[in-house]
Amino acid sequence: MNRCEAMKQYIAQNGEQIIADTMMLARHQSPTAQKEYVETCADALEALVKERLGLEPTAQYPQEARGRHLYYSIGEGPHKALMIGHYDTVWNIDDLPLIREGNKLSGPGVYDMKYGIVASIWAIKALQATGGLDGTYGLFFNSDEEMGSRTSRAHFEPIAKTFPNALILEPAAPDGAVKVGRKSTGDFLIKIHGIAAHAGTDYASGRSAILEAAYLTQELFAMTDLPGGTSVNVGVISGGTKFNVIAAYAEMQVDVRVTKASEGKRMEAAIAALKPKQDGVTLEITGGMNRPPFEFTKANQGLFAKAKEAAADLGIDLGKIMVGGGSDGNFTSTWGIPTLDGLGPVGDGAHAATEHLMIAQSLEHTAVLANLLTKL
Ligand SMILES: [Zn+2]
Repeated sequence: MNRCEAMKQYIAQNGEQIIADTMMLARHQSPTAQKEYVETCADALEALVKERLGLEPTAQYPQEARGRHLYYSIGEGPHKALMIGHYDTVWNIDDLPLIREGNKLSGPGVYDMKYGIVASIWAIKALQATGGLDGTYGLFFNSDEEMGSRTSRAHFEPIAKTFPNALILEPAAPDGAVKVGRKSTGDFLIKIHGIAAHAGTDYASGRSAILEAAYLTQELFAMTDLPGGTSVNVGVISGGTKFNVIAAYAEMQVDVRVTKASEGKRMEAAIAALKPKQDGVTLEITGGMNRPPFEFTKANQGLFAKAKEAAADLGIDLGKIMVGGGSDGNFTSTWGIPTLDGLGPVGDGAHAATEHLMIAQSLEHTAVLANLLTKL
């Protein structure tokens, strides 16, 4: 049996354990903003890496308001690839049940992306079990990707730059396609200051922050140009105090996605230039574009070609797609490091109540990841 078949068999034989490891990490729920939960998940992840690979973290990066980031280096000799995975999720505690039914595993973060982290550990194990590592591989697990990797980015940048390849453990598409392009993402906070007044006795002197939020919402959604690749979403609005008081305050959280850095600049300017429609209302606008676009550069095409070959060895025709959501691949690609994304599980429903992975397909995808590691 050749090596890629042996690795595939090793992963299939350990499939139950791989799914059990994923479920264990999913049970340690880890909403980005809830540090105490995220730290507990990091403890579980550290214990898992210790048990599976016998490794202590090479470096840890504690954070004030987020969970710590973990870095592991394994193997010796030439640097081959840094694998990056986030262990935070978008789910609040107990939002979603963890359910295994036949070939399907549903639950908070199983698809985005706790399976991906487990896959990286088992891909390394598959290499160890079939002849060993012929170079150095890095594993960086961050705790804040779902909120833009604001505290982790500066820590994985110098590490990533020592590796000739970055493999992002985010989920693959439902048909197993890997991700070779992602939009640039931005987020904005708009604070609206109106004037409070009694809704009955003093209506005319009030200026409603809620009415202003309604005007701005219309204006922001109208900036969307789907054929041009630009989208704007007002995802959260909050404000007001009582039904009979004209609201003095409201705020809106806005998500923006574009395909080109120049369009990101244009959108930043357009949002900064928003003006209130009512006299006496003021706006405070903060935020901006966060992740640069992840484009299918020459370097990334070269890495995808190796992945395609790694899949073909296993009889799989590997597809590729561009998607709207950002990831840490947006950063590594922009830093000029050949980057491939979507090397985690196969499934669907990231950030949706339908979040799930398909077990057999995900295990096959992990065999492709392991085989790719041997080609770098
Ligand atoms: Zn993710």
